[in-house]
Amino acid sequence: MKILLLGPPGGGKGTQAKFLIEKLNIPQISTGDMLREHVKNKTDLGNEAKSYMDSGKLVPDNVILGMMKVRLVESDCNNGYILDGFPRNLQQVENLNQLLIELDHTIDIAINLKADENELMKRLIKRSKNSGRSDDKIEIISKRQKVYWEQTAPIIQYYKRTGILIEVNGIGTIAEITGRITEVIK
Ligand code: AMP
Repeated sequence: MKILLLGPPGGGKGTQAKFLIEKLNIPQISTGDMLREHVKNKTDLGNEAKSYMDSGKLVPDNVILGMMKVRLVESDCNNGYILDGFPRNLQQVENLNQLLIELDHTIDIAINLKADENELMKRLIKRSKNSGRSDDKIEIISKRQKVYWEQTAPIIQYYKRTGILIEVNGIGTIAEITGRITEVIK
């Protein structure tokens, strides 16, 4: 099964991806995690991405596409994957579509974890206390929310039109939200 996990920062994508990995036995492909790994290892890609990440901006599309091209051909992706944090704008949707054609892959379902902005800010501020992430500072958190609503949210409409979008209420306990996701992937 190939799943897109969509929704704003702090919406619980990472947490719910962990559950899906176990349940479906497929890898989570988080562009944010991959980028943080590059930054930590001081690779060329990491050095290029760092300033964008630290200021809450999106890393350039060509950098992300290059990274995904390498990742999606790895053998653990054969049975499926959960894309978390990609695509992040309409250009990346196009890039992904092209890549899927090249790989002969089809996305089965796009799950949009919905939460309102107040709830998201509360969760992100709570997470920032011990995440160790350099972009978990209040002004950067606000910037990432703004970037989400301006650049990423329009992709939800795209997936709605393609008919693969399922909206899941992302407010509640982790278990409640997991329960709702379990229902939609049956
Ligand atoms: P995340 O862990 O998904 O919240 O991502 C953390 C940061 O990594 C974002 O604020 C962006 O700077 C960068 N990032 C992650 N995924 C992408 C992507 N698909 N496109 C551009 N930038 C990304």
